[in-house]
Amino acid sequence: MTDLSQAVERIFTPDGPLAQVDSHFRVREGQTQMALAVAQTVAHGGALVVEAGTGVGKTFAYLVPALLSGERVVISTATKTLQDQLFGRDLPAVIRALKLPARMALLKGRANYLCLYRMALSRQEGLFPDRFVVTLLAKVEKWSQQTLTGDLGELVGLDEKSALLPMITSTRENCLGSECPDFKKCYVSQARKEALASDVVVINHHLFFADMSMKESGMSELLPNARVVIFDEAHQLNEIGVNFLGVQMGTSQLLDLAKDVLATGENTARGMGEWREMASKLELAAKDWRGLFAKTERLSKLAWTQLAPDGVNEQLWVDVLNGTLALLEEMADAIEPLTALAPEWLRLQERLVELQGILVVFQKPLGSGYVRWLDVGAGVRLVQAPLDIAELLGPRIMGPAPKEGASPQAGEVSLGQDAFTQEIQEKQETEETQDDNSEHSPSQASPRSWIFTSATLGHEPKLSWFTEPCGLTQARVLQVQSPFNYAKQAVLFVPKDIVLPSDPKHSEMVSDLSAKVVLALQGRTLVLTTTLRALKEISERLKSLLLEHPHIEVLTQGEGSKHELMQRFRSAEEVGAKRSFVLVATATFWEGFDVPGDALQAVVIDKLPFPPPNDPMVVARSKKLEELGLSPFNHYFLAEAGVALKQGAGRLIRRESDKGVLVVCDKRLVETGYGKRLIQALPPMARVSQEATLLEGLKRLTTGATKPAIC
Ligand code: SF4
Repeated sequence: MTDLSQAVERIFTPDGPLAQVDSHFRVREGQTQMALAVAQTVAHGGALVVEAGTGVGKTFAYLVPALLSGERVVISTATKTLQDQLFGRDLPAVIRALKLPARMALLKGRANYLCLYRMALSRQEGLFPDRFVVTLLAKVEKWSQQTLTGDLGELVGLDEKSALLPMITSTRENCLGSECPDFKKCYVSQARKEALASDVVVINHHLFFADMSMKESGMSELLPNARVVIFDEAHQLNEIGVNFLGVQMGTSQLLDLAKDVLATGENTARGMGEWREMASKLELAAKDWRGLFAKTERLSKLAWTQLAPDGVNEQLWVDVLNGTLALLEEMADAIEPLTALAPEWLRLQERLVELQGILVVFQKPLGSGYVRWLDVGAGVRLVQAPLDIAELLGPRIMGPAPKEGASPQAGEVSLGQDAFTQEIQEKQETEETQDDNSEHSPSQASPRSWIFTSATLGHEPKLSWFTEPCGLTQARVLQVQSPFNYAKQAVLFVPKDIVLPSDPKHSEMVSDLSAKVVLALQGRTLVLTTTLRALKEISERLKSLLLEHPHIEVLTQGEGSKHELMQRFRSAEEVGAKRSFVLVATATFWEGFDVPGDALQAVVIDKLPFPPPNDPMVVARSKKLEELGLSPFNHYFLAEAGVALKQGAGRLIRRESDKGVLVVCDKRLVETGYGKRLIQALPPMARVSQEATLLEGLKRLTTGATKPAIC
């Protein structure tokens, strides 16, 4: 056992430092097991993938060994909520408990920070969509006098969708960088400097990929300086990476560019150049793009496997792309004489050149391992993405693919495999000057360690659902079971008399059964659907079925932010609460919806959450598996459904005292062989087969946890 492992073991004892600062702390076998595995990886380097079931306490399990190692640590999360929770609560708590002098920093994407330059520009231009935005800008200006971080999250009442946000934040495209008159006071730049000078930095997966791909200037120093990199909410890593590492271009980019050309022209080049004409031409090009899809249904995704997206005349498509490319080239040339007037013109020129590069990508045939499609909404968006991040991420973490006959055993990672180590060495050799963070230069003696964790990373022990697309099949894998007693705390019910999901009557029957569950529990129910259509149908029918029960409110996704809906749902548990809730939701609510206690006692799932078979990404991934001689159903559809089902079911039991029922309105779960495999992926719940038994048990649940539950 290493010194670090021994130190970690001492922390997780009944009278250790954690117990002394947290009266709720108690020893959990799974938590200690995970902490020791993390300690071992931190001590020796390599990659560790840990699936830690709900209630394990995985945050402390990785924070303790990482902090005790004394190495520089980067922690990445998928959501802002966890990022804030780590930085504001968990990390300071562990630093306090361990009495460490660690300096910590929170680094978010640039869209989260006030851009002083653009705020002043917006005031100067005075182009506000409405009076509300003017009032809001005044509020931001006042706040800007006192904020130390410029983090817009500090501002109460600033909606994420506010029209003001793009006016007071920067993008990689419009930031002036060192040419900016406000560069010295720039909050984005300050946050990055603070991150580089800190021992522990909390970032998110988007920033990680920005750092990795160096798509953001100023981001390339963060990772090479960290010895321990931890990904929490790692289950989102592949999808975020796929989005980030792909290329996109759409009418909104053309229109934004036209707007910025006009604004820059008005401010710096009145009476000079042809910027007004150029902006009009860009707007016309955007109209041409949209015009091609005038008859296409909104919010559709068009597959794009040939020269043009499905249903689009190839010659017309080629003409539109060529015309836009020629226009961008013409504009870049026309802007050249203006670049001496202001740095904004230089940035606009760079944007034009970048867009040309993206358009050229879309003119070329699609390479293998990639998928292309076209999103049609208010505008159109061309998208090309890798099928997964295995080739992009795997070699960075596990090193280049091993030579034949020299493959390491699962769980073993050779110390020399860390590609970043080499990157650091090269960086150190070539860098003549070090900034004021040089005391943090990594020691070459200790290799980098990578920890990936989440409550759900697969539906089988190898966690292939996560490791394969991320290129981590050689990583050490650990599954830590939840400490909850599911057999006593939860019940699974699958109605057998319900029609198959393909039957038009299915949503109606789901609504009717949900209404019975809701009435038995007097609210306290989360209904998760797999499609927006089912969401709408079930929500509307539930509202009409529960009309005569005004104390039970039916909430529907979209009626507020996820956070707001969660807060309302939780309020049912407050003393004197007069209402309880049922929430009908889809997509993002299958995970991260955290309502512990009696406010949530039933989760109803409308059908097995298989991926949509016509989605271009799903089609392309299936095709790749077929080419490899594998069954898309077994290797992809089933794995996706298994993970989503686990996530949805995970909303039910959040504490050791929670009790509840999971209703899956899809009899394929009990009547097919693959359904039985999916059940095995779920926590080991008790089962009931009769609706009457279920409803009777639910009624008893509402009378308090001391009464017997269904099981
Ligand atoms: S450097 Fe960029 S982000 Fe910072 S104030 Fe200037 S334009 Fe805004």
